[in-house]
Amino acid sequence: MKHIVFLSGAGISAESGISTFRDAGGLWDTYNVMDVCSAEAFMRNRQFVLEFYNKRRRELADKKPNAAHCMIAELQREFPGRVLNITQNIDDLFEKAGCQGTIHLHGELTKARCEVCGYVWDIGYTDIVGTEHCPFCKAARVRHHVVMFNEQAPEYVRLYEAMEGLADEGMLVVIGTSGLVLPVEEFARCAPYSILNNLEPQDAIDDRAFSVHMYEKASEAAPKIALLVRRFLNGEDKSEELS
Ligand code: NAD
Repeated sequence: MKHIVFLSGAGISAESGISTFRDAGGLWDTYNVMDVCSAEAFMRNRQFVLEFYNKRRRELADKKPNAAHCMIAELQREFPGRVLNITQNIDDLFEKAGCQGTIHLHGELTKARCEVCGYVWDIGYTDIVGTEHCPFCKAARVRHHVVMFNEQAPEYVRLYEAMEGLADEGMLVVIGTSGLVLPVEEFARCAPYSILNNLEPQDAIDDRAFSVHMYEKASEAAPKIALLVRRFLNGEDKSEELS
């Protein structure tokens, strides 16, 4: 059956006021990524890394989803079971928009994880100070539920399953990612139809792999993307409209 896979990165949340990492003014202008987002940094300075993510979590509390998050939620309601949402983002804007079953490849800021038993639970926007106990096994090894550099990302199994499934009547829609972490261009080659939306061309992405590219804000691209998705899912697409 025809289906859609959305795959997003930090750019989809930029208009909601959450900094991307690599864009000018992004988080990496302020922080050295390997000092705050790596397994080594966490081993070296646990409190510093916990506090970095506490700040990111606090910042989420008043952020609202934008038209691009809402577009995906609306399409999921319109086409039940045919719109899969996968994101690299650790924010909760898809959940706030009403998206269902979002796969967070790199974890979620609003959850904590026990390093001993692996139990994951909701903590909302509260800080992790380092003295908490796991509600399941009671160990005092509680951390942010975010995948850092040089850590495993268990959800990649589901990502690769979804990418393999694209060959079978799938459309891939990539929004707001530089392609430095995930090989989105290779993924696009798996799909009969694909759309790329970023602010500007990216060195790491050969946009010729995509049927359509839109270099503009995600909120402005959203209605056009929704139109192409509806046509595709309703079987009204003509190849010339999508290439
Ligand atoms: P990135 O920072 O490397 O690249 C951002 C991309 O978004 C760029 O290609 C840029 O052109 C595009 N972009 C910026 N503003 C946009 C807009 N308004 N509309 C459309 N596109 C826009 O992001 P990445 O590829 O996602 O990699 C960063 C990593 O850091 C990810 O793995 C993610 O987990 C993490 N991260 C997450 C968040 C978040 O949860 N919101 C924020 C920062 C970083």
